[in-house]
Parts: sequence; C-alpha cells; structure tokens
Amino acid sequence: MSAPPSIDRSESQPLPGSRGPAIVARSLHRFYRTGDAETLALQGVTVQVDPGELVAVVGPSGSGKSTLLACLAGLDEPDAGSVEIVGKPVTGRSEQARARIRARHVGMVFQSANLFEHLTLDQNVALVQHLGGAVNRSDRAALLESLGLSHRARVYPSRLSGGESSRAALAVALANQPEVLLADEPTGELDTATEAEVLGLLRRTAERGAAVLVASHSGAVAAAADRQITLIDGRVESS
Ligand code: ADP
Repeated sequence: MSAPPSIDRSESQPLPGSRGPAIVARSLHRFYRTGDAETLALQGVTVQVDPGELVAVVGPSGSGKSTLLACLAGLDEPDAGSVEIVGKPVTGRSEQARARIRARHVGMVFQSANLFEHLTLDQNVALVQHLGGAVNRSDRAALLESLGLSHRARVYPSRLSGGESSRAALAVALANQPEVLLADEPTGELDTATEAEVLGLLRRTAERGAAVLVASHSGAVAAAADRQITLIDGRVESS
C-alpha cells in the first residue's frame, strides 16, 4: 500500500541546511520460500526516519517487523526496493560494504543481548569500537557511566542482572556513536521499571541526534515514541 502523497516522505528532499533523513527505505519487498509455501514478509514497505526521531514499529507477530529491521541493517537483502543509511546505499552492495556501513553508522539492540560471554563488558564495547574503525568512538568510560554501568565494566555478561544486560546491550550498540539505532523488542523481557529506564535511554539517544527505530509489541514503547509505523501482513497500515 502506498501512503497518500501528503505523508509519503519517501521522495522528499532534506531541508536546506539539514542533514537529511538517516533512514530511507523505499518499497521494500521480501519473500521467503519454504518448500511450496511462499511468505510475503514485506510487501512494499516505505519508511523514512529523520535524525532525532524515536519511531516505534508495531504490529502483530509475523507482520514483518524483524524482517524490516534486518533489511535496514543490511543483515538481510530485500528482493526489491532500496535502503539508504545516512545517504549511503545499503541494498545491492557487497556483504563487506554492508558490514562497513553497519559498523560505522548503525547500532543494533536485540532481545537476546549482543555481547560475547568470554569478554567483560568493557572489552565487549572495545571490540565493537575496534571493528567500527577509529571514526566515531564514544569515550568508553563516559558511555558506561551514562548508562549507569561504570561499576560493571570489568564484569562478564553472565554476571549482569536483566536490567544491566539491557543497558549493556545499549552500550555495545552505542559504542561508535551511530547515527542510526535499530532495536528489536529491546524491552521484551523486562519489568515495567526497567523498561521505562531503557525507554529513557532510547529517548536520550534520539535527543543526541540519532534516528531510533524500535520494533516492539509493548504499548509503553509505542507511547514513548514520536510516531508509530504499524505493519500488518508486511504492509504499512498507518504511520
Ligand atoms: P515479526 O517480527 O513482526 O514477528 P517477522 O519479520 O519475524 O515478523 O516475520 C514476517 C513473516 O516472515 C512471518 O510470516 C515469518 O514466519 C516469515 N519469516 C521470517 N523470517 C523467515 C525465514 N528466514 N524463512 C521463512 N520465513 C520467514
């Protein structure tokens, strides 16, 4: 379904002097074939997120939220359509080029934490910084302090509590000051208080100028967002 012209921002140009959209996805299609069955996971999804925006992707299970995030991150290649991250094409690029864009410009938070168990929290952040090159490294001590994790820097992931693990996942995602933060159900396993804490951190990340896109079932996430994109059966139902 294509959005009405008044709200279809896919072709819009950045305002003079602005940095332009951080995420642009145009008419994404993604099909999966399993045996004889074909699943239409994305059927023409167009999404744009500006720097500083916190946007929730909502919709029932199976509506395509994770597939959309994977395509935006360049972890999955759509069958049709295009993705640009901070003006750089992600689709139609080599795996290596996509990985480079991801490492430099995109932070990712998944429900299952993105930490290596045999490295301490500080070492996990350092590894991601190393992989991202020297371009936009956060000051590690300041980053961990901003997330209330200074005292846990030398701890291994298995020793972190649920709330600490969520904040640690954010620390890794923010290690290189990404312009784009993609989070898939980042509060899925959290109690209400910890969820509110993580939402506060996502909000602060947007206020620092990142485009933040969060896929979630949670009403609290939707309520905290600047706007919502609702996916139904792989189509944008409303935005
Ligand atoms: P959501 O995140 O909203 O739960 P997903 O993006 O995970 O939705 O899935 C969208 C649809 O695509 C679902 O029907 C799902 O079963 C299907 N799907 C997702 N990944 C694969 C895959 N690797 N192989 C086959 N089907 C898949």
